[in-house]
Amino acid sequence: MGLAKTKMQITFYGAAQNVTGSKHLIQSQGYRVLLDCGLFQGRRSEAREQNSELPFEARSINAVIVSHGHADHCGMLPLLVKQGFTGHIYCTNATAEVMRWILLDSAKIQEQDAEYYNNRLPEGEDPISPLYTTEDVEIMMKQVRPIPYFRIRPQWTILNERIRFKLYDAGHILGSSVIYLECVENGKTHSLGFTGDLGRAPAPILHAPEVIQEPVETFLTEATYGFRNHRPINDAKKELRELIEYAYKHKSKIIVPAFSLGRTQELVYLLHELTDDGEIPRLPIYIDSPLAGHLTDVFMAHAEDFDHESWVAFGSKGEAPLAFRNLIYTHSVEESKAINDMKGPMMIISASGMAEGGRILHHLKHNIEDPNSIIMFTGYQAQHTLGRKIIEGISPVRIFGKQFHVKAQIRKINELSAHADQNGLLNYIKQLKGLKSIFVVHTEVDQGTAFVEALQASHPNVSVTMPEKGYTVEIK
Ligand SMILES: [Zn+2]
Repeated sequence: MGLAKTKMQITFYGAAQNVTGSKHLIQSQGYRVLLDCGLFQGRRSEAREQNSELPFEARSINAVIVSHGHADHCGMLPLLVKQGFTGHIYCTNATAEVMRWILLDSAKIQEQDAEYYNNRLPEGEDPISPLYTTEDVEIMMKQVRPIPYFRIRPQWTILNERIRFKLYDAGHILGSSVIYLECVENGKTHSLGFTGDLGRAPAPILHAPEVIQEPVETFLTEATYGFRNHRPINDAKKELRELIEYAYKHKSKIIVPAFSLGRTQELVYLLHELTDDGEIPRLPIYIDSPLAGHLTDVFMAHAEDFDHESWVAFGSKGEAPLAFRNLIYTHSVEESKAINDMKGPMMIISASGMAEGGRILHHLKHNIEDPNSIIMFTGYQAQHTLGRKIIEGISPVRIFGKQFHVKAQIRKINELSAHADQNGLLNYIKQLKGLKSIFVVHTEVDQGTAFVEALQASHPNVSVTMPEKGYTVEIK
């Protein structure tokens, strides 16, 4: 019996029939590249269990490529390093900065959670320690190797003599990339693409997603919104305008759970436009999240990643797109608390986006039982999160261990989502050349199934599947 030739393999360790914990391992002749190393989010106990251990030996990984700085794509990196990974972590320049803030925030939340839990330790239970600390984050950051988008510096990154990759702009959040990787095995070149998360086109501020120019045989695509289409962005603007007019008239507080990156800046950008055009009254808008403030600074430092339209709209007037008169960034806890005693009208934008933690919980607690308040969701709400419960009409809900009846008005503006919808995903994939197999990841089962069907109908000769967590496929 001769030696079996090893083939390129992919194992889907996370964001498989699920929207969080993105982790895909590529193996080729002993070399192991990890695409993303994200945290699982959702039910607390479950997330804790899924995040407590890596599904592979950290030491065995040779390199990591990170698609973007959302925690569900990079939030496990400090643990990977803590457990012995010594290789490089590649990502764009902006992602490196975004990731640092996101991970420091994540570490802080974990430190606080552990402290809170340990102070109320049930009898006989062992104290828990945070997955990682802020110090672990700084240690991990030393292994990061930022690289520019290929359009900015057209140069491949070489992992070894057989494997190279480049980063296209995914247009999802600042610094987000679509990863394109080539791997030579026994004289044959395998080509692989991974969306990370794909943005919408057109969207405010960021570039539209760039299409991979090379033939791509194997493609891993997200499908968060694979089951539906967003309305045009102008509809969202109209709805936003009406909502603000209503709030102004009724002195309502509009509470917006938002991710610190992505929706927050897009929303601020749209509000700035509407304000400048005189379409909405100047009501105070609070960005109550220190993290969002830091990330907005990163944003402003990476103007090269903005699209042309943003500059035409604001740059020409000498204005910063993410700053205007009635927009207030709050930093300290005291400033944050002070907002609770103020009267409406106002808008409060605060993290976290799925209302699972962070300052938004305080604002929800103070407003959720007030029929004059409005809770506005702008992003995807994963299963088992407080955000999902509220949009599904569940009442009462638990916040800080107490029951609250949901009497506030609930609104949803999906058009501000940083994710492509079904048409956006299909359009992107239609432009790819040389496809042989597509793996649908980063989706819940029902949504994913609908997308697999749509994709299969438009690509009858391509194998389309939605792999289960832990599944390994060999690429021929
Ligand atoms: Zn994302």
